[in-house]
Amino acid sequence: MSEKLDKDKLLHLYKMVDEKKDELIRLSCDLISYPSVCPPGRNCGPVQDFIQGYLEELGCSIDRWEYFKGDPNIVAVLPGTDSANYKSLILNNHVDVAEVGDVSQWSFDPFKPFVKDGRLYGRGASDMKTALAACLFTMKLLKEADVGLKGDLILHSVTGEEVGEGITRQCVESGPRGDFAIAADISDFEILGQGGVITGWITVESPTTFHDGVRARMIHAGGGIFGASAVEKMSKVIQGLQDLERHWAVMKQYEGFPPGSNTINPAVIEGGRHAAFVADKCSLWITVHFYPDEDYKDVSKEIEEHIMNVAAGDPWLRDNPPKFRWGGESMIEDRGEIFPSLELDREHEGTKLLADVHHAVTGEKPIMGMSPTVTDAGWLGEGGIPTVLYGPGELALAHAVDESIDLEDLISYTKVLIEFATRWCNTPK
Ligand SMILES: [Zn+2]
Repeated sequence: MSEKLDKDKLLHLYKMVDEKKDELIRLSCDLISYPSVCPPGRNCGPVQDFIQGYLEELGCSIDRWEYFKGDPNIVAVLPGTDSANYKSLILNNHVDVAEVGDVSQWSFDPFKPFVKDGRLYGRGASDMKTALAACLFTMKLLKEADVGLKGDLILHSVTGEEVGEGITRQCVESGPRGDFAIAADISDFEILGQGGVITGWITVESPTTFHDGVRARMIHAGGGIFGASAVEKMSKVIQGLQDLERHWAVMKQYEGFPPGSNTINPAVIEGGRHAAFVADKCSLWITVHFYPDEDYKDVSKEIEEHIMNVAAGDPWLRDNPPKFRWGGESMIEDRGEIFPSLELDREHEGTKLLADVHHAVTGEKPIMGMSPTVTDAGWLGEGGIPTVLYGPGELALAHAVDESIDLEDLISYTKVLIEFATRWCNTPK
């Protein structure tokens, strides 16, 4: 096919989506029916087997690996006919879904999907099994219609996103590079960037453990014992974090976020060993939200420096400074996670083309801005791949009871993907 996508071919592709929409719906339902719930995770083998089979039938090359046992990940490439000279596209997806919580709250079985009044219901309908279905279906229709992509079309199907396992980072570091990436996670069908999140543990620890009976000599005149309660000292750390949080709220801002979105949440505290002792250890688990123009490494360094200054103003903390552990591999393995931020490059040719195609398909210009949540899109951007967050899922329904999606949006989204992939992957590098 010529580099310019001719109108007839395009209308034919659109028609194919409309004619075969039941196949798209069935594929979505098939994916939803696998309960790949995370946490607990480690249950994505069967759904990934299904996806691998689907992709192999299309002639994709498959790279499959397990980082956490029981959760295989897939990177598939639908090879272009001249991939050295034409642009490649990554479609990034996660295959795990959020917990369902108390099933009695649901008005149906979350893993028995169904369609009613133009909506598809089931866990993962919005976040994000239908988007994954749209990506797979796009690859299938492009193959069936013999569109002949010149650049590679690359699909990520990762696990553990719901608990921040950052497998997309591995896809970027070890997998094929993309000239552009669409993270198909929920974005309300808007073209978005995102802020970032990093969690951290701050620990105050005494080198000596004192009996409760010694407390008087640690805190009163003439006692002579240089000691402290780690729990009490942590209150100074918490106060310091609040001061910094307020300073950030006043001084930092980013278009698309309500002021003060850059929060430091003291989420969990663990400390002390028993009522018969003075607390010799206290750890605080914090969640830090930062803006798209900030990096998680700089943000954590800024917090660390501030808290070390707080410690320098206290006679005991000065000698026993807090220790920091930032991020982690997984919220369920080592209780930590990182989601890098993602700026939205409105001037990038990929972003512009996507906006044009969205406009052509839906008749409306896309809303462009910032997501209030975080996704793996940040890892793609962090890896140097121009990326947007763009998915059909509805944010209000992600992780919600009776999750669903508007089928009209899903079908339009698929049309956008098909046209975008065709145009982008037939653009010379
Ligand atoms: Zn998601």
